[in-house]
Amino acid sequence: MTQDILAADAPAPKDWIMAIAPYIPGKSKTDDGRHVSKLSSNENPFGTSETAREAFRAAADVLERYPDSAAVELREALAAHHGLDPERIICGTGSDEVLHMAAGAFAGPGDEIIYSRFGFSVYPIATRRVGATPVVAPDKDYATDIDAILACVTERTRLVYIANPNNPTGTFASRAEIARLHAGLPRHVLLVIDQAYAEYLDPQDDDGGMELARTAPNVLVTRTFSKIFGLASARVGWGYASAAVIDAMNRIRQPFSFSISASRAAVAAVADTAFVERCRLHNKEWLARFEGEIAALSNKGLRAVPSKANFSLVLFEGETSAETAYKALMDHGYIVRWLPGQELPHGLRITIGTQEEMQGLIAALREIVGA
Ligand SMILES: *Cc1c(COP(=O)(O)O)cnc(C)c1O
Repeated sequence: MTQDILAADAPAPKDWIMAIAPYIPGKSKTDDGRHVSKLSSNENPFGTSETAREAFRAAADVLERYPDSAAVELREALAAHHGLDPERIICGTGSDEVLHMAAGAFAGPGDEIIYSRFGFSVYPIATRRVGATPVVAPDKDYATDIDAILACVTERTRLVYIANPNNPTGTFASRAEIARLHAGLPRHVLLVIDQAYAEYLDPQDDDGGMELARTAPNVLVTRTFSKIFGLASARVGWGYASAAVIDAMNRIRQPFSFSISASRAAVAAVADTAFVERCRLHNKEWLARFEGEIAALSNKGLRAVPSKANFSLVLFEGETSAETAYKALMDHGYIVRWLPGQELPHGLRITIGTQEEMQGLIAALREIVGA
């Protein structure tokens, strides 16, 4: 027999936990349950590398053993590939866990954590989870405003989160801007540069974050296998920072995170540089074509925020609202991300899909806005 239990009778959660707005993931089905093109979570439309898939399968028999807590194999593979010190790499259950560990190790009640308006939606959760105070720096036409962040710094600031390129806007802060941000921060502030989309950049667009993490005591760079590597389901992410920062984070790390299969898949994915390059070039071509198509719809009030990631934030500032377009796209078989919960009720974040998906989506969008 079930009994209604009043929330008032249950143990009281901390105030700062109840101040968290739960994370809203991208939909994978339409509201009426149809499976359609999912362009709502910035996943890789080409799946993952075949060698990574094979490596995952080959390790799938070993279910009774704990995975290697220290993730030695993966850290060594990453260190060799990027020219890093394996001792200064930390792995986590997705880069989300690494982002949470940064707040957990360096901030608590009374401390402040700064991020940009329209920053990644995990930052407010990670901040409030540890009881720290979120400080939201104003944006500059949807992009990260370095000066606005620096103006928010106080002696209580413990951490700055910046996603570069940023999600959900796709905007990018240059190497010079990142250097200026770092130079303007006091030494007691940890600068977390979330590079979830770094592999989509042209090599000359490198924001210099990894170089800063290599040389500065107060910079953490995070990376993920969920985006260009196509391993979102495996939940593998990692970070690079000074030995002192990594040591603090390691103390609160879950002893065991991703599975052996996930680790093997990640190691294989790092080695398959041809797959990554193919995905990067497809994205570059279709992002540019998509932004061109949106520019052609400017007379309908559409505008794409300039992106360097694998998605585009399209603003609807004319007759057709983002909500209307979102629902109509779903009817046409395309699920994109409408973001009213992130102060973007006028925006749709659209992941770059396959050629077929992009052509179909563009045709649908033109029809919806009456072009
Ligand atoms: C997708 C994404 C992540 C990665 O999350 P995982 O936990 O590694 O899957 C981190 N930061 C940003 C900005 C993202 O968009």
